[in-house]
Amino acid sequence: MKVKIIHYRANCIGCFACVEMASGRWAMSKKDGKSVLLGAVNNKGVYNVDVEEDEYEEEKLVADLCPAKVIKIIK
Ligand code: SF4
Repeated sequence: MKVKIIHYRANCIGCFACVEMASGRWAMSKKDGKSVLLGAVNNKGVYNVDVEEDEYEEEKLVADLCPAKVIKIIK
């Protein structure tokens, strides 16, 4: 089963937490200082990617710790 990660990027505050916790899935943009959800497609500024279930626990933690609450995980 796939897990969907959604990043409401417009309200990302660029705190770096997601990148620190899951650098395989998140990176920082040098352009605007916000994070980038790696492998995601852009749907009108909301980014999403379907990943394997083995990323679920880590990404759930990332979503919980994101201070701006701009990451959603759907299983
Ligand atoms: S943890 Fe949230 S606010 Fe911080 S960089 Fe990542 S997505 Fe942006």
